[in-house]
This record gives sequence, structure tokens and C-alpha cells, in this order.
Amino acid sequence: MSSRSAVARACRALTGLALVWAGLVLSVWPAAAAPNSGGKPLTILIGLDGFRVDYLTRGHSPTLEALAKAGGVAQGLTPVFPSVTFPNHVSLVTGRRPAGHGIVNNTMWDPRIGDQVFRLRDRQAVTNPAWWAESEPIWVTAARQGRVSSTLFWPGSEVKIRGLQPRDWLPYRHDMSSMERVDHLLGWLTDIRPDRPQADFATLYFSEVDSEGHAHGPDSPAVHQAIARVDAAIARLIQGLERAGLWSSTHLVIAADHGMSYVPADQQIDGRGLLRPFPAARWQWTGPVSGLALGDEDKAAVLAALGKSPHLDCWPKALVPRRFGDLNHPRVPDIICLARTGWSLSDQLLSFPIPGQHGFDPDHSDMQGLLIVHGPRIRPTQLGRVSNLEVYPLLCVLLGIRPAANESKGILVDQLLQRPGSVVGSRRR
Ligand code: AMP
Ligand code: ZN
Ligand code: ZN
Repeated sequence: MSSRSAVARACRALTGLALVWAGLVLSVWPAAAAPNSGGKPLTILIGLDGFRVDYLTRGHSPTLEALAKAGGVAQGLTPVFPSVTFPNHVSLVTGRRPAGHGIVNNTMWDPRIGDQVFRLRDRQAVTNPAWWAESEPIWVTAARQGRVSSTLFWPGSEVKIRGLQPRDWLPYRHDMSSMERVDHLLGWLTDIRPDRPQADFATLYFSEVDSEGHAHGPDSPAVHQAIARVDAAIARLIQGLERAGLWSSTHLVIAADHGMSYVPADQQIDGRGLLRPFPAARWQWTGPVSGLALGDEDKAAVLAALGKSPHLDCWPKALVPRRFGDLNHPRVPDIICLARTGWSLSDQLLSFPIPGQHGFDPDHSDMQGLLIVHGPRIRPTQLGRVSNLEVYPLLCVLLGIRPAANESKGILVDQLLQRPGSVVGSRRR
């Protein structure tokens, strides 16, 4: 089957579904894509925060299902360790593990960056270039090779990295709805003038499935409603691209950073109690994956005490299981603990439980994220589980750029492209 017919089939399927959801008429979402066969290629990376892979089968996401049928879809996109938002979003756009790109968790201390603590809610920290100095996101590599990027949110897009930033970007606004995010991006993508060329690469980021997953748990009606809203937003994006004549030359790479697990209220691990005999030690990371700065406490004694907790596995950072990758980085605390799936460590008694959490073992089925790739160069393919490090070289091939050094194997490039590209470039391993 040719890629064109696959795309056309998808568009027809989507059109029908759009009619059902919103009572739209064909004039709003025409069955035939606007002819733009010679259009400049556009690659859009869509980050679906916390969209566990099985959410696709729950019947709330007709657009995503149609895209998956017509394109490439994985049984799971396996996050890097730790399975939380910032490290994984940066791995998606660098093809490197956290110790390689430097964003090792959502919360970080760095002896080299003085007093500042990196936290997602601290805009001064998130926009401080010092935290990003070890990463080279794809929009930086692309800019050096003459490509233009528009990022409607992505970790790292709000700061100059190696002196470069996407042409279009916005400070992160959690309260902006998924529909507004789509409309804002469409505004950028369709604002094409002689002095403002069409973007080659764009990102879009949807947070609401993750937020509802945390607040209500992965099996809640609130998650299902969020899935439906995000799905409708993606349908609106496709409709806007079609109207602008961009859809037939667009690739969508839809990737979730991690999944979500149910954590019962009585499965909290008392991190403070565990450290009572060791006053100089403190938790820098808490949750399903936790990290401890020893201070001047004795490592062996602390590890022995932690070893008594039946729901935790703890290691000195140099000895974490190899499949989690190398954690040898000054921002990684001295001791790393991983809770059994369904358990979570906190350093204060939480008066309100968090029923949905992630950060667990990246190989656990609950942590597998969604991956769908769709576009004219993609053949319909069912893939097994794939590491999210593999997304980066695929993006590079679609953009026609030479990748920066990365840790991928080129699996998606080999398996998804109609004509396998030769570009995986310099790999570190
Ligand atoms: P978490 O579930 O703790 O791993 O992180 C998810 C949260 O990251 C989302 O709810 C967002 O509020 C936050 N987030 C995502 N992107 C950004 C960004 N660019 N800047 C600040 N916070 C962000
Ligand atoms: Zn996330
Ligand atoms: Zn989350």
C-alpha cells in the first residue's frame, strides 16, 4: 500500500470521526486533503504527558486510533530512568540518557550552580542556561543546519541553549487549554511571509492527561475525559493543517514521556522515619524514585537501614542496575531508591494521597507510553516496545539534518521509513 493511500485513508477516517464528535460539516474538515504535494515538509513532535500506551484502547481517542492504524504504532515507548517528565522530554529531543543531557530529574541540585535548586515551578531556574549547558535539543542542531522551529512548549525551549532558541516559543503556561495550544501553534505555522518562512519543525505539548492521572488515578473518568479532550485537540490540529494545505506534507510524531500507576493511599513509605538515625542525610528526590544526599553520614550504615524497607530497592548511584543507564552525574544524589510499583516514598506525611504516580521502573508495563508516527514517509507498522531514545534520530531523518551525538540504535529509522534512510549518524554507543 502506498503512503499516499494510507494518508488519504486516514484523512477519510478522521473526517468521519470528526463529524461524529463535534457535529462538524465537511466544509470544516474536507474529506480530501488540500493538494500540496510539493509542500515543504513539516515535522510536528507532540508530547502527550503521562499517556500510558493502553489508554489508546479505551475508546476515547478516535483520532489517535486512526493515526495509529495508518502509521507506525509501538506496543510501548519505554522511558529513560527516572520515568518523569523533564528527563524524558529532553531525551526525546536529544536521543541521550539523562546523565548525557544533564536534566537528570524534575528537581535537581548541582554543586556547580550554587544555591539554586531546579524545580519545574521555579521559572528562574527553568530558564537558567546553566542547567541546560550539557544538552543539545534538536531545534538547536536544526537551527545550525538552516531549519526553523516553532515550539508550543517543550522543556528547554524557553532558554537559549548554546546561544540558540526556537524561532517561535512561549513561556510555559499550565493553564492554557489543549485547544488554545493547538490554535496558537496553528497561528505560527500558517503565518508565512517572505521574511518568515514556514517552520520545518514544531512541538506541541499536552499536560492534561498526566494532571488528571495524578489527581484521580489512571482508571478514572477524569483521565478518560482528558484523553478525549487531547484527542479532539489533535483532530483540530489536523483540520487546521489541512485548511492551510500543510497536512499532506506533515509528519506527526506523537510520544508520551511515561505512563501512570495507581498508588493506593496506604502505600506511602515514610522517608523521614527511615532517616531519623541519620540527621545529616536528606532526600533530594521523593516519590516512586527517590534520591538521598548522604551529607557526612556513613554510606554502608544508611544503605543497611534503607534495606529494611520491604518496598524499596536502594543502591549507591554507581551501582544502579545497568538497564537504568549510567547515573554518574553530579546532579544525581548519592543513593538512589526505587519503590515497588504501587508504592511511593514521601518525606512528609501527605494529608492528601496522590492516586496516580510515575517514576517507577521504566520496564514496568504501567510506565510504557504511547508512540504513534504518521506521515507520507511512514509505512503502517506495528512495533514492539521501543526506547524513547529512538525518537530523536527519526526526527533528524524527517528533518533532513545530521544528528548530534546520541545514544540511539536507529530502530525507528530502520523500521518505519518507507525507504529506510541512511542517517543515524554519530552514535555514542
Ligand atoms: P511530572 O508529572 O511531575 O513529572 O511533571 C508534569 C508537569 O510538568 C506538568 O503538569 C507541567 O505542569 C510541568 N511542565 C511541563 N512542561 C513544563 C515547562 N516547559 N515548564 C515548566 N513546567 C512544565
Ligand atoms: Zn510527564
Ligand atoms: Zn506526571
